[in-house]
Amino acid sequence: MTIQADIKSLSQWEEYHNRPLVIAGPCSAESEKQVMETAIGLKETGKVDIYRAGIWKPRTRPNSFEGVGSKGLPWLKKVKQETGLPITIEVANTKHVYEALKFGVDILWIGARTTANPFAMQEIAHAIKGADIGVLIKNPVNPDLELWVGAIERIANAGISKIGLVHRGFSTYEKSLYRNLPMWQIPIEMKSRLPEIPMINDPSHIGGAAELLQDISQRAMDLNYDGLMIESHCNPKEAWSDAKQQITPKELGELLSNLILRDPIPHDKAQMNTLEELRQKIDWLDDQLLDIIESRMQIVKSIGEYKKKNNISVLQNSRWEDIIYKSIEKGAKKGLSRQFINDAFKAIHQESINHQMEIMNGKKE
Ligand code: PEP
Ligand code: MN
Repeated sequence: MTIQADIKSLSQWEEYHNRPLVIAGPCSAESEKQVMETAIGLKETGKVDIYRAGIWKPRTRPNSFEGVGSKGLPWLKKVKQETGLPITIEVANTKHVYEALKFGVDILWIGARTTANPFAMQEIAHAIKGADIGVLIKNPVNPDLELWVGAIERIANAGISKIGLVHRGFSTYEKSLYRNLPMWQIPIEMKSRLPEIPMINDPSHIGGAAELLQDISQRAMDLNYDGLMIESHCNPKEAWSDAKQQITPKELGELLSNLILRDPIPHDKAQMNTLEELRQKIDWLDDQLLDIIESRMQIVKSIGEYKKKNNISVLQNSRWEDIIYKSIEKGAKKGLSRQFINDAFKAIHQESINHQMEIMNGKKE
């Protein structure tokens, strides 16, 4: 990675020490009254660190509410003056950045559609060059880790060291419980590549529904995320955007009180030993799993040789369908999800076909 600036971990972001760091506020600023009423409610919870509101809204279809624009900036300034909460807004182009800097916004956030667009990222990076400001970068709408890394590089190379990431899930065409699939493995991989960079979860845009927020937030805490960005509105039912996923400040306070915060690392020798023992058992089982797969491949090879000698084709669909059906049913009885068995057996089957192909043609597929 070619990052020139030193990226600061959250504990180096001066004022932001709480875990979870909580960023909350409405999806969109609608009126001064709505912005202030929500801010006062959030301040009263005593659990919110930063106030968010969208001023310019990237909407999927034209003719939806596209945000109040610059006229909302003085409302946010008032929030800061009256509650002391730092302010963050979404920026998607040069004009947004200049306006935000002029009004003393504390942190900028880059939306998921913008992260996915390298031209826009470059333009934003150019506009913020050298500014002393925090920048939160949401994951791109598509599950592309490199695109996310590229956006970080562009912002870091503009001399910004206070960079945080927001995991808001990934678009899907298929119907799902979630509005955006969390694909937890992507932020987890990002954390292992850039361990210092703060990772914030956005359960509102992942879930798309108020009733899913608690569970998603808890999962994020269990995965040691640094913070949460949650949409909150003084009157969610009447919200001009994302009404289904917004909750009142009071509900947000309750959600945060219900969170169980577990220690990221074991804190004494006994805990370490117990974990170590269990991990050894896992390692031993993993070795066995590999041995079993190896034995399976040996048999697959014998079948390949037999098929070659007798001129029978590699793939026999009915046999495969039989295996997968039986395994899914057996797995379900053992508490293993159908999706998991399907994916795991498909991968094993593909590897078996590759081995047989190698035997029959002398090459891998
Ligand atoms: C938002 O936070 O209101 C927003 C538009 O988010 P995203 O970029 O994640 O869709
Ligand atoms: Mn929103």
